[in-house]
Amino acid sequence: MTPGEVLVVGAGPTGLTLACALRLHGVAVRVVDQAAAPATTSRANLLHARGVEVLDRIGALGNLPEQSISAMTITVNAGGRPMSTVRFGDVGLGTARPALLVSQAAIEGELRRRFAELGGTIEWGTSVAAVTQDAGGVTVKLDGGQALHAAWLIGCDGAHSTVRKQAGVAFPGAAVSDDWLLADVHAAGMPERSGSHGWLHGDGLIGALPMKEVAGHTDASLWRIMIYAPGMGDAHLDEHPDEQQIVDRITTVFRERTGLASATISDATWVSSFRIHRRLVDAYRVGRVLLAGDAAHIHSPMGGQGMLTGVGDAENLAFKLALVIAGRASEAFLDTYEAERRPLATAVLRTTSANTRLQTGEGPIVRFIREKVMLPVLGLPALQRWATRVASQLAVSYRRGPLGGGPLARLGRRPRPGDRVADLACRRLDGTATRLHAELGGRWAVLAPAGAVDELTAAARAWLGGHVVGLLPGDASSQALLVRPDAHLAMRGRPDPDALARWLEAALRQGRVR
Ligand SMILES: Cc1cc2nc3c(=O)[nH]c(=O)nc-3n(C[C@H](O)[C@H](O)[C@H](O)COP(=O)(O)OP(=O)(O)OC[C@H]3O[C@@H](n4cnc5c(N)ncnc54)[C@H](O)[C@@H]3O)c2cc1C
Repeated sequence: MTPGEVLVVGAGPTGLTLACALRLHGVAVRVVDQAAAPATTSRANLLHARGVEVLDRIGALGNLPEQSISAMTITVNAGGRPMSTVRFGDVGLGTARPALLVSQAAIEGELRRRFAELGGTIEWGTSVAAVTQDAGGVTVKLDGGQALHAAWLIGCDGAHSTVRKQAGVAFPGAAVSDDWLLADVHAAGMPERSGSHGWLHGDGLIGALPMKEVAGHTDASLWRIMIYAPGMGDAHLDEHPDEQQIVDRITTVFRERTGLASATISDATWVSSFRIHRRLVDAYRVGRVLLAGDAAHIHSPMGGQGMLTGVGDAENLAFKLALVIAGRASEAFLDTYEAERRPLATAVLRTTSANTRLQTGEGPIVRFIREKVMLPVLGLPALQRWATRVASQLAVSYRRGPLGGGPLARLGRRPRPGDRVADLACRRLDGTATRLHAELGGRWAVLAPAGAVDELTAAARAWLGGHVVGLLPGDASSQALLVRPDAHLAMRGRPDPDALARWLEAALRQGRVR
């Protein structure tokens, strides 16, 4: 075991983001995954703006923006006609990074590329079977009987997490909705490819999303079709129908529910079925074992929040764990990971479950709300802006968490301690223009006027080590800002090295600044 080495279990989006971010903080990291090789099919197809910012900060955005399709609308149809079009436009929260409609496989590919660039390798075909820990570290037994040791273990091993079970962490929750069928198909006679489409139907919701590429295959006839299919999902697939039977069944259901009688589906590149559960762990950390992503929370895929939340968990955890490993922060600081991320996961579970129930519920009240209340207001620009803003997670704030400014911060200027800081224009100390987020990614930032920035940066380095960058504001602000590696505001005020040191001392030692 390398001293301080972190073992990440799972090379999905959460584990890979965590591994890249830890490497950027200078931490030795080992990644294992039970799969023989990377997945070529994809569950997620949408990464909202906040997730795109995270990829950008850790240098894993690559050419994903070029791979993205620009279908940023959802047209909701009922009774065979379009009722409303929801537009996912600019959320106006100071991001240069709009949402991406790209496959999860492509995102994982860019994360793997970045991890390799940072010197990491992924050990495929390596399945964790058992976990034990003591005060000095964690021991993992692999399926083949071999043992691995690490100082810290992070379970990013998805919804059925072995690490979570081995750590004895409960995963309470409930089923939200019945079977769904998911198929990536080649189709003709479909609606406009400039957006996604949903059809409300008495037998269940059906959705179609244009896709650019599946399993490395690019085609303008590719669509993802999602069918709410109580009784048709697992049961249907368990009969082992051949591909043609699956295609015929999807075609029939698609025509029935959409009214598009001439739609033809020629083949399915991938078919999967799933049930929607909402579950949240009762602890994110047990000693030296931590959980992130789907291993810690699962919910409805509606709204595209799963990968987004996992990637955000990873970025939040990485800089905290790095400081603990460096001996610069206490475990109380590490516990701010759960304190900050649990409220967000709780909110995501609540909104995605409510949304799913509203869209699939069969009772007369739910139908009335869906058709007479929800549909008519969906097209309102103010509502669309609000929905996009919530889904983007750009407005997520840790203001109420132990490192935030608390309720009194409401009186201060924005951003307030705990808020995300927009991607501000600023200057490096040599005067060259840059943007705040481009300077983060493994570093804290001190943003302060020329006469104060050196002293403040030195004060921050005394507590944080070398992972701090000093920057000059792009405007005439006389304030100083300390920005965390995940772009949230640590503190702001007049340039005062003692105040900055006091904040860092409280945060790193007690995990609480109020
Ligand atoms: C139909 C569908 C559509 C979705 N659409 C979206 C969307 O549009 N946007 C969005 O943000 N989210 C979406 N999601 C959610 C998203 O796919 C997940 O939240 C995301 O994959 C979670 O990433 P993860 O890395 O935490 O876990 P996973 O992606 O599940 O990765 C876990 C990894 O751990 C490995 N592993 C498991 N057990 C072990 C073990 N014992 N030892 C070693 N390795 C192990 C697995 O092989 C796997 O590679 C969707 C989900 C579904 C089902």
